[in-house]
Amino acid sequence: MTNEELWQTALSEIELSISKANFITWFKGTSILSNKDGHIVVGVPNGFAKEWLENKYNLYILRAIRNIQEEVKSVSCTISTANTEDSTQKEPLVDAISAPKKVFVKESAKFFPGQENNLNPKYTFENFVVGGNNELARAACFAVSQNLGQIYNPLFIYGGVGLGKTHLIQSIGNEILQRDPSSKVKYIPSEKFVAEFIEAAKTGKINEFSQCYKQIDLLIIDDIQFISGKERTQENFFHIFNHLSQSNKQIVLSSDKPPKAIQILEERLRSRFEGGMIADVSKPDFETRVAILKKKAMREGLSIDDESLGFIAGNIKNNIRELEGALNRVAVSAQLSKKDLTPTYIASILGEIISSGKKKGITYKHILKTVSGFYDISPDELIAKNRKQEVVRPRQVAMYLMRSELQYSYPGIGSKLGGRDHTTAIHAFDKISKALKVDDKLFEELTSIKDQLYSIV
Ligand code: ADP
Ligand code: MG
Repeated sequence: MTNEELWQTALSEIELSISKANFITWFKGTSILSNKDGHIVVGVPNGFAKEWLENKYNLYILRAIRNIQEEVKSVSCTISTANTEDSTQKEPLVDAISAPKKVFVKESAKFFPGQENNLNPKYTFENFVVGGNNELARAACFAVSQNLGQIYNPLFIYGGVGLGKTHLIQSIGNEILQRDPSSKVKYIPSEKFVAEFIEAAKTGKINEFSQCYKQIDLLIIDDIQFISGKERTQENFFHIFNHLSQSNKQIVLSSDKPPKAIQILEERLRSRFEGGMIADVSKPDFETRVAILKKKAMREGLSIDDESLGFIAGNIKNNIRELEGALNRVAVSAQLSKKDLTPTYIASILGEIISSGKKKGITYKHILKTVSGFYDISPDELIAKNRKQEVVRPRQVAMYLMRSELQYSYPGIGSKLGGRDHTTAIHAFDKISKALKVDDKLFEELTSIKDQLYSIV
């Protein structure tokens, strides 16, 4: 791993633990200058940054780096005017964890020299916790890693954000390279693939571009949905795809939705995507979330009891990246404040994370709009005094969400929904809470509504 890759990966971890503003302010224009004998020197653009990084963020930096290279013992900063490049702003860093961007930009100019695979070494099958939500996808990925190009081609993994797709598909690459370091493995997010293609087209090098890709043994393209609407890229990809699959080379794709739901995708490409194996990852249940936290805590030598892990897992449900972020945050805070990780202490730190998630600017109006849009009725009908069955359920769902997502009081809910009595709101909340435990369809509906709700702000 180069210093650049190490720093990009560390930054993506640090970014999860501090505010965006602080992150940009203090980590802009930084890089690793040297990494020798367990000591890392970070180059920073000025004295302020040096002071802040050394005093306030030293632990964060050290922890993030040690996650990747355990042998690192210390970090210091030095002012370096050579750092004009801004490693924090080009791309959202959360994603840099899955692909060291800058390395890639350089590489794209040369068109796949066959050296850089863009894999994050942390993403292995060993580090992946199997649960009911990802069992099939994990099994398919593992099978592919044992029979490259032979069984499922392409392998298509889909599912929501932060549920382990990138981790799983990269695990195949890491597994292959571990067995045979000379294999030509390439991981690339589809946006990068598109950008590379456009660059190649501009410079008249489409042939070189295609040739490079056609030499690969295992091509992993992440978030393929972003190829939607990019006609020329799709056409080119179609040829690369055919070439690879005809030569029994493996293609692995991930997406946030199944092939049939990707819009503006050439039909022939869609049918190719559907021609192999399709597996989904969904949200993990409580036990799996605890197991994921446990594994991560163990890897990092964190001593944290089961009750505390359960508390975190009980509060962060939708996204494993957030789950890991919360554990990091808790660990770093405890270390900085020299407090033990008791459930009470954790509750106080998590309170901040959870409420900030909830306060993403969502109001009851967003809820009414999203719920009515979902059930295809008008927001006025939700409020109106009308007991038609087709609006009663959506209305109860809206009331439930005002309580669960915004912590509205029952009288408050009643008054926003056309001046209803608070007992109606209580009844609605109870009814939906109970139904959610037994009614899978309702559970799915609520999950989609919440996804929509949180994606509009
Ligand atoms: P996606 O690509 O689906 O958005 P990622 O693969 O980036 O999600 O996963 C987000 C984070 O959660 C990563 O750090 C990943 O290692 C971790 N993660 C996801 N699923 C698991 C799992 N089953 N076991 C361990 N870690 C996981
Ligand atoms: Mg991903």
